[in-house]
Amino acid sequence: MNRTVICPGSFDPVTLGHIDIIGRAAAMFDRVIVAVLINSAKKPVFTVDERIRLLEKALVGLDNVEIRSFDGLLAEYARKTGADAVVRGLRAVSDFEYEFQMSLTNKKLNPELETIFLTSRAEYMFLSSSIVKQIAVLNGDITNFVPECIHDEIKNRLAGNI
Ligand code: ADP
Repeated sequence: MNRTVICPGSFDPVTLGHIDIIGRAAAMFDRVIVAVLINSAKKPVFTVDERIRLLEKALVGLDNVEIRSFDGLLAEYARKTGADAVVRGLRAVSDFEYEFQMSLTNKKLNPELETIFLTSRAEYMFLSSSIVKQIAVLNGDITNFVPECIHDEIKNRLAGNI
């Protein structure tokens, strides 16, 4: 059976935590759509095109992963793309309540859609795009938080961007 899953998110910018989750999904399913949310309530710093380009560079070699952008309801987007499930990463307990609510809401809107939660490696459990942005704007070291191939691009884009 051909299984497609969606990894949705803001990816503003992509971190090693995201890459860990996407890599796990790619190993478990036939096709992974990394869906970059266009109009995030989080007011992204990177444009959609920038976020997609960074993801493309960081995910080179994962042949069953596609990177796309989407807007509107995830439940509808999943229907349109024929996805079987949404994959979300769970970090600390703080993610749980929101994710639980989203998963139940998506199930109401699209009863065929499952949500699968994965955990990343322990060293990424605290990592978020906002932490990376906070460190980088203050010229701190983000080497351990983002893929090496896009490190300079993220750093230069954010340095002094307070
Ligand atoms: P959103 O704005 O939808 O939360 P994010 O870009 O912040 O999007 O995250 C996308 C997905 O990646 C979410 O499921 C999030 O929980 C997961 N994720 C992000 N960072 C990590 C991490 N360090 N470990 C595990 N999952 C993560």
